[in-house]
Amino acid sequence: MSEVSHKELKAFEGRAASKTGVGKDPVNEPMIRHWCEAMGDANPAYTGPDPIAPPTMLQAWTMGGLTGHQDHSAAYEELSALLDGAGYTSIVATDCEQEYLRALRPGETVTFDAVIESVSERKTTKLGTGHFITTRMDVRADGEPAGTHRFRVLKYAPAQKYAAAEKQAAARTQAPDQRKSEGKRPRPVINRDNAGFWEGVKQHQLLIQRCGDCRTPRFPWLPGCNACGSLVWDTVEASGEGTVYSYVVMHHPPFPAFDPPYAVGLIDLAEGVRMVSNVVGVPSDKVRIGQPVRLEFQQVDEELELPVFRAAEGTAGGEV
Ligand code: ZN
Repeated sequence: MSEVSHKELKAFEGRAASKTGVGKDPVNEPMIRHWCEAMGDANPAYTGPDPIAPPTMLQAWTMGGLTGHQDHSAAYEELSALLDGAGYTSIVATDCEQEYLRALRPGETVTFDAVIESVSERKTTKLGTGHFITTRMDVRADGEPAGTHRFRVLKYAPAQKYAAAEKQAAARTQAPDQRKSEGKRPRPVINRDNAGFWEGVKQHQLLIQRCGDCRTPRFPWLPGCNACGSLVWDTVEASGEGTVYSYVVMHHPPFPAFDPPYAVGLIDLAEGVRMVSNVVGVPSDKVRIGQPVRLEFQQVDEELELPVFRAAEGTAGGEV
């Protein structure tokens, strides 16, 4: 194993991450229609005589399908090998971010290339220690810049603690009375589009966006209205009343800071939107569809507070 300096890694910034690619199909209405049906997106901008493609389809036009498109560039492979050699042999995708520069229209040819935009300093996360690699794909429609797609991975050496936590979680199955949470919950990813939501959480307010034009409420936070496309919005504070629309009980995989089994509900808020959060206050096997719940803010650790939903007393489901 050989150490690698940040300077060595930074030298890869700006180098190609892949060869220039061409979309397998030009922008086309059948793919747009399938996408809209799968997403349940009835925005009229995507149908009719002069439709545009949903902006979030950006990456779809660049995908290689089962036969693939292209491999990573030699530079990317070299960077990867350097990190492997330094012991950062694990990889996890952490997040992606898109920016839209102009609408794509049926008939347009999509081209794209990707560069290694940045390689972070050495960072230690819950998973382990390593370096974040951000690649930026620039997408063009008929040669004009149409958007960017940033993709971040962490190349890391797994933390002892994480490996130990996994082992401990596996042991829980044999010794359920030795359960103990450890580690911290993952931090929310706060960006320009959802910062207002997290500001609200700090004030113990659950803020729902409302379209400034057609007044349709929406959640989670998005820049535009799904019903009319308007970019104008304000917020309404949720009353906190809701019911369980659906739920799952998480048993596996074990992860530090989570203590399975626990219930994750899709909550129908009184304001007409749904939100995913934990259902607390009753054992996870007593959560039921239709159960009334009420919002509360739970201090998860010293820095993190999250909105969760408490099942009203006396509403626990019976034995089945
Ligand atoms: Zn609207």
